[in-house]
Amino acid sequence: MPKFELAPLPYDFAALEPHIDAQTMQIHHGKHHAAYVNNLNTAADKHPELYEKSAEALIQSLMSVPEDVRVAVRNNAGGHVNHTMFWKLMSAKPGPISTELSAAINSTFTSLDNFKTQFADAAMKRFGSGWAWLVVDGDGLKIISMPNQDNPLMEGFTPILGVDVWEHAYYLKYQNRRADYLAAWWNVVDWAAVSGLYAAATK
Ligand code: MN
Repeated sequence: MPKFELAPLPYDFAALEPHIDAQTMQIHHGKHHAAYVNNLNTAADKHPELYEKSAEALIQSLMSVPEDVRVAVRNNAGGHVNHTMFWKLMSAKPGPISTELSAAINSTFTSLDNFKTQFADAAMKRFGSGWAWLVVDGDGLKIISMPNQDNPLMEGFTPILGVDVWEHAYYLKYQNRRADYLAAWWNVVDWAAVSGLYAAATK
């Protein structure tokens, strides 16, 4: 079976400037995401049957992963899944939100602006490293945050939007100002991509 691989970033490192700087993107993709992939392969080398599953499938059934590599798989398959999704959720030319997702957000959170406020609040309150997520739970939407590289799939939810609030995602440009990073990040969120994930999760 092939090993897990780091896909190229789907745009130039500088594409999200000035909101996300090129050096951050380069290190985030080329060092941090690459390390999750390498560490996942190191864990799977000890139990090659793990290569038969996708990274998503691995984190959805962690109890079936051998105990000696379970923590490594949780952190590194989680990191691989989270970052693979994160790159695709951002674009220099964000597309529009779908009618369906817009209606669901308005019905759950009153308005898109109110959703953004609540989502950023969850991201601000995540102590230390982790992510805030918009997930599909059954036929509803909800905002959650999770520590480290944990992913909503581990809780049975389907993530459709996530923001990385590890310091490595913003420290070079924003230092300790997580709120400024989050405010800028909305400028590069590709609502067309989020809408596509929503459609897939609710069809
Ligand atoms: Mn990251």
